Amino acid sequence: MKYPLFIIFIFLYGQLFANDTADIIIKHGKIIDGTGNPWFYGDVAIKNGKVISIGDLNSWQAFKVINATGLVVAPGFIDVHTHIENDEAKNPYATNFIMDGVTTVITGNCGSSHVDIKKYLSFIDSLHLSINVATLIGHNDVREAVMGDANRAPTTEELDSMKALVAKAMREGAVGFSTGLIYIPGTYSNTNEIVALAKVAARYNGVYSTHMRNESDSVTQAIDEALTVAKEANIPLEISHFKVGGQQNWGRSKQTLAMVKQAREQGLDVTIDQYPYTASSTSLSTLLPDWILADNSDSIKTRLENPEIKKQAIDYMLDKLHHRKLKHFNYAVVAYYKADTTMNGKSIEQVNLAMHRKHKAKYEAQTVIDMMLQGGAGMVFHGMSEDDVQYIMQYPFSMFACDASIRVFGQGVPHPRGYGTNARVLSKYVRDKKVLTLEEAIRRMTSLPAQKFHFNDRGLLLPGYAADIVVFDANTVNDLSTYEKPHQYSTGFKYVLVNGNITVENGQPNETRAGVVLYGLGEKAHANSMHAYSSSPL
Ligand SMILES: [Zn+2]
Repeated sequence: MKYPLFIIFIFLYGQLFANDTADIIIKHGKIIDGTGNPWFYGDVAIKNGKVISIGDLNSWQAFKVINATGLVVAPGFIDVHTHIENDEAKNPYATNFIMDGVTTVITGNCGSSHVDIKKYLSFIDSLHLSINVATLIGHNDVREAVMGDANRAPTTEELDSMKALVAKAMREGAVGFSTGLIYIPGTYSNTNEIVALAKVAARYNGVYSTHMRNESDSVTQAIDEALTVAKEANIPLEISHFKVGGQQNWGRSKQTLAMVKQAREQGLDVTIDQYPYTASSTSLSTLLPDWILADNSDSIKTRLENPEIKKQAIDYMLDKLHHRKLKHFNYAVVAYYKADTTMNGKSIEQVNLAMHRKHKAKYEAQTVIDMMLQGGAGMVFHGMSEDDVQYIMQYPFSMFACDASIRVFGQGVPHPRGYGTNARVLSKYVRDKKVLTLEEAIRRMTSLPAQKFHFNDRGLLLPGYAADIVVFDANTVNDLSTYEKPHQYSTGFKYVLVNGNITVENGQPNETRAGVVLYGLGEKAHANSMHAYSSSPL
């Protein structure tokens, strides 16, 4: 006999208890791996937070077996455009994300982030959220830290200080640089300023994510500016919540998307993201001209209380309304008005009537100013066409992103996208309207964003990858959140795992919080160089 019996026994013992044991096995699912390839039947083994094997794993042992018969098994969804700042501690379970299949978010979008990224990421680390978090460094906060809300270009010294803040943030782990060029003070910047700062982010392998200067009448100029920044700074570009807003612009997505396609053909790494709804959501202040919003709330108040300036603001708003071919501000609906929450859910037209004012647009504009003087409001604006939404959705390099925060259940009447973005794509656009295939939708929710933001061990179901996994029923998955009743979780996600931890079980969140901080490549490069420096014999 060539091998003694005990050696064969040890070999078999080893096979049984070392190699073929997993923490969790997900069995008999239809695996959609995130590449865009078609589904196949198989089992997924998970150990120590990672996927360790995929295939027919019948002989394997596991502490927990999930029966996925009839269900789809896919990588957890990655949402590249969120705003979780200030809500993390209110609901660290991030239930709206988890119940919509999202296991990783990128925050710090639209120019709005923390400036001290190291402190922010260690805060996230200490909170232990249910989801993984990465952040961008936001232009508006960087600019504000250096020059307040000044309505002018920076001096050379000020620009240098901003560059230093962006560089520091990238070294501390930001995954890119974001702008929000309709907001104060970002709107006061010119293209050169953005290029200078994007160049800094580019040095650290960052992405430039932009809420462009305009998403309505001047959208093509705004896309031109974004492409110029990407070209001049030599940085990958992500255009946020790609849309054409305003009734007068419906149908222009053919023109705007053509610009993106052409830029890619010319070698520019540009991708876009979208939320699958025809309404947008932002602050009430965006109805007013920018120059009124400069400096601080005292100066805004002083301006709006000046009858001459107030008249100019009202004329501006009426012009814009007329341009939309609308008679009333019925497209603008209050999501959250702190000064009087009974107005939440009402359109500006209805708020105006509730204030016993005449049913005329000019009184509605006056109502907007009064609400601004009472601290402003969060709004939902119904201004996009379904055809444009679907046309943009068919573009292969468009991701899905909710542009929302962690929801505090029951608070306000926020846009439903914070609850239902992914379920809505999978139900309305994949299952019902067949705008895209299931495999394609999942690729856009997983490997496309992972590739763009260098999450190199996420976004695919492969051995060695982090076990961020969703198990859902493609026949019943549904978004229940609506504009009228937004506080409703998506249904159909039976299991959601984050880093190998079951976070949704039998369709219910179980309060597991296993998310981690995802650092950008700048932090890794910086950490490595520090290590090389400290270990070199100087
Ligand atoms: Zn935005």
